Amino acid sequence: MTDSINLTQDELAGLLEVLKHPDHQQGLEDRYLTVTAIEHRARKLTRISATISGDDPLNEWTLANPTVRVALPEPPEEFAAIPGVPKTTTRVYTLVEIDPATRTAQIDLVVHAEASPAMRWLAQLRIGDRIDIVGPRPHRTPGEGTPRVLLADSSALPAATRLLRTMPHVDETFVFAAVPEDEFAILQQEISALAEPITAFRVEPHGQYPLATAFAEFDLTTDASVWAAGEREDMREIRHRCKHHLGLLSEQTQVFGYWKYGMTNTRLDFARLRATQKGLAAGRAFTDTDDFEIEL
Ligand SMILES: Cc1cc2nc3c(=O)[nH]c(=O)nc-3n(C[C@H](O)[C@H](O)[C@H](O)COP(=O)(O)OP(=O)(O)OC[C@H]3O[C@@H](n4cnc5c(N)ncnc54)[C@H](O)[C@@H]3O)c2cc1C
Repeated sequence: MTDSINLTQDELAGLLEVLKHPDHQQGLEDRYLTVTAIEHRARKLTRISATISGDDPLNEWTLANPTVRVALPEPPEEFAAIPGVPKTTTRVYTLVEIDPATRTAQIDLVVHAEASPAMRWLAQLRIGDRIDIVGPRPHRTPGEGTPRVLLADSSALPAATRLLRTMPHVDETFVFAAVPEDEFAILQQEISALAEPITAFRVEPHGQYPLATAFAEFDLTTDASVWAAGEREDMREIRHRCKHHLGLLSEQTQVFGYWKYGMTNTRLDFARLRATQKGLAAGRAFTDTDDFEIEL
């Protein structure tokens, strides 16, 4: 049972208003995908292939790390008691592949063990279904620096593989992937198709802070660039080492929590929205809030 969030209807409306801020809306479009295939890439990774609505050239969509917000067909449980609640729950996913010529895109979804809006939706999804999305939002890409280190769990494997394929190569690129063996095989296959050498390490995905633990043992200089995405507390540890032990600049440290153990993304989104609302009221810019400082 998901914990409900106590808000009045007006407070909820005020929070949703934050989403209309021009800095948030920039470059975003309402579109829909039509599912053309659903395939099991690995035991716990499902690929959805789809066509993108419209007939324009999709010039803005071929980003290094494009993400979309997917509308799932159930109201957010956390807001169930509030009148006027949105009819859909939304979740963010990476477009691991996008081809403007054929107007096709792919999303790789982690099939995790929790009962959740995305897992219920995925279980019902069929070829021909329509998926409402908002996007594309460019998500984080590695900053300048050598060596370049990418750290990803299964949820960030799509982003990491896409970054390897689309960004200019940096000599000495290392990838740490906290993923099951069958997903690591996908990563190795993708790397072998690239022209330049990349060193990949598999990290056992279980236990506390798997990526941060592996990262702590990896020697790095202050010239490094670190990109990491995955479970929020694992990411917090990585960011802590980058900032406080290695002294990397914020541009060299692109670290983001994609999900959090024991907490729904609706609740994370709510906390982010509330922090942004407070920041805007205090005269700060839309993007000024440090995600790891947000009170959950
Ligand atoms: C920028 C960005 C890009 C992302 N790209 C992808 C992507 O390409 N593929 C992908 O699969 N995910 C991706 N994610 C993560 C995805 O949005 C979250 O995992 C989301 O919480 C899934 O929603 P849900 O409804 O299944 O679970 P929620 O309702 O949010 O959570 C319910 C429960 O499930 C657990 N849970 C959620 N996600 C996971 C997980 N990955 N592993 C184990 N337990 C989990 C939570 O801890 C919670 O206890 C991305 C997130 C962001 C912010």
